[in-house]
Order: sequence, then C-alpha cells, then structure tokens
Amino acid sequence: MRTKLAAGNWKLNGLMSDLTEIEQLASLIGSPSAEVLICPPATLIGTMVQTAKGSPIKIGAQNCHHAQNGAHTGDISAEMVADAGASYIILGHSERRADYGETNACVRDKTKSAWAAGLTAIVCVGETLDQRKSSNTLDIIGGQLAGSIPDLATAEKLVVAYEPVWAIGTGLTPTLDEIGEVHDFIRARLERRFGEGVGRSVRILYGGSMNPKNVDEIAHVSNVDGGLVGGASLKAVDFAPIVLALSKA
Ligand code: PEP
Repeated sequence: MRTKLAAGNWKLNGLMSDLTEIEQLASLIGSPSAEVLICPPATLIGTMVQTAKGSPIKIGAQNCHHAQNGAHTGDISAEMVADAGASYIILGHSERRADYGETNACVRDKTKSAWAAGLTAIVCVGETLDQRKSSNTLDIIGGQLAGSIPDLATAEKLVVAYEPVWAIGTGLTPTLDEIGEVHDFIRARLERRFGEGVGRSVRILYGGSMNPKNVDEIAHVSNVDGGLVGGASLKAVDFAPIVLALSKA
C-alpha cells in the first residue's frame, strides 16, 4: 500500500506574504490520508517550515548543487536545504533540464547528494511533444530513469515524477491510457532494477496541468501514487481539493 503524495512545486513564485497560503491550506485539509508537500523557492524554506509546524504539511526544495560545499557562488547544497528543515527535494525537473542543461548524469549526482543529506528525492522524467509524436516516449523515459536514478534506491529515498514536458503549465494532459502506459512502464523498470519489493513501493507521481477538475480521474489510473502540481499548488483553495481528492483515491 503506497501512501499518496500531493506535492506542490511553487517554482519561481512566493514571498513572505504568501505564507498565509500555508496557514489556509492547513485549515482546509485537516488531517488528510495523503502526504502533503510544498516546495517553495529556497528563500522561503526555513520560514515555511516554521509556519507549517503542527500541520501535516511537509516542506521541500526545488534543486541543489551536487557538491556539499565549496566555490560555487549562488548555489545551495542538499545539506543546506535539509538544515533549513526540508525533507524532500525535486530534482531533474524539465525546466532545469531545459534552462540549465541538466543531464541525466547531473541529476544522478544531485540525487546521491540529496540522499547523503537524508532527503527524499523526487526525480522527474518526461518526454517532449516531438518525442511523443515520434513514438519515442518510453525510450526517453527508460533512458532518464536509468541515467538519473543512482543505485541502491529505496522507497524512503526515492519518488519518481512522470511529467510530460508538453503538459507542464499548458492546460494539456495526456489521455488516461497514456498516463497509465507510462506509469506501468516506470513501475516495471523500477521492479526490474531494484527488485520487486523496492520497485513496488517507490511512489510514482503524475505531473502536468493537474488541477481540482482532473485530479480525481488521474488519481485512479494504475500506478499513479499522487501528483506533482505547479500552478494549482500556489493557492490553498486550488491545492486543498487536490490533496483531498488524492486522499480519497
Ligand atoms: C510542474 O512544474 O511540475 C508542473 C506540473 O506544473 P503545472 O502543474 O503548472 O503544469
């Protein structure tokens, strides 16, 4: 039995004044059966951890450098975000792969660093529209999984997020069959590489234009263990119904 995870990715959004969204979210969700996570910009991690204290909301980061410390101006390490109170970290998001040229090897190094700091890594994979149109989706996802996830994964250390690049922030989503096909494929790959026990217990999230209207049907697709949500996680009134729908699924 995998506990569903509702994860919000705030991306480059969020000021101190937005901490009220966390208070509101906490009061709207009560004690949900799904795990709840918000990943704000790094500037808000420490304060948001304090705001969320006593609520079921966990706080995560959106990125880290692979090194623990050193001459890397402007970067932050996995140890630093853990020290600020984060328990999860999103790695290999397609926006970072596109904007900063993050390769699978780079994502793997960051994931190792996150694990060493005691964080759970949410490793993102997903195809572009061209790759889907040319029927390369599963090859691409298979390559990203093999290259981005280090050996010795466990369900405590790893969550995989399937996020079709063309569905992120566009209002478009794959069909339920398409989502199911990719999630079943990811599950099979995890079982093949890490063994049935681990492979069956790692959670696989869907991400890409998930919202209060489509969450229910997506949440019932096989091997969908939650959602990684961008735009609809910014406001408590949008994210709370997603948390509650995932809790019921
Ligand atoms: C994301 O950035 O991870 C994401 C899924 O964004 P959105 O929900 O806005 O498509």
